[in-house]
Amino acid sequence: MKQFIIDMENYANEHNVPIIEKDSIAFIMKYIKAHNIKNVLEIGSAIGYSAILMASASQDVYVTTIERDEARYMECLKNVKACGLDKKINVVYQDALEVNLSNVEYDLIFIDAAKGQYTKFFEKFKYFLSKDGTIITDNLKFHGHVGKSNRIESSNLRNLVKKIEGYIEFLQDNKEFDTKFYDVGDGLSVSVRHNDNE
Ligand code: SAM
Repeated sequence: MKQFIIDMENYANEHNVPIIEKDSIAFIMKYIKAHNIKNVLEIGSAIGYSAILMASASQDVYVTTIERDEARYMECLKNVKACGLDKKINVVYQDALEVNLSNVEYDLIFIDAAKGQYTKFFEKFKYFLSKDGTIITDNLKFHGHVGKSNRIESSNLRNLVKKIEGYIEFLQDNKEFDTKFYDVGDGLSVSVRHNDNE
């Protein structure tokens, strides 16, 4: 398994596939174990690197992961099968904003897809979170650009970074969830829904 993970890291590097940083996935795996997470929904599979590691975090954790890029979806499926995790990982080939989920609840939702759409993902998928569920989002530092958008010359990058800054504000102001921000990897947020009945 260790060599398989290293091979995936090398593949991602050689093919310019963005995957989560090692410290961040280690943080999430620890979170899965510590909170007895059983069902994970991941938005943005790429080649299955984080899905495979999350599914390996404990014996009884199951992952559904959504990817809209066909080549990456195919690579993800191949990797999931190759490491024998096809009973624990369900790979869905669709745009996450168009996916219809019904009668399912996840203890953890991991948002790691188009950075400009984080708020939309959060607003759509929070309805599929279990009562004490958590939403984790990656790349909130966006390679050090977040917090400095006004100084970015390229308008595409500036707009993207502004959207991430807007998402951070959205999380900070959100009355339904308590969010903590962690300076791990490229920046993670952990949002837990208030449980007003307790
Ligand atoms: N979580 C992966 C990992 O760490 O191994 C990395 C995911 S990569 C940062 C983001 C992926 O999200 C890309 O492969 C991209 O094609 C996919 N993506 C972006 N927007 C999406 C959407 N709306 N629905 C599904 N997938 C999307």
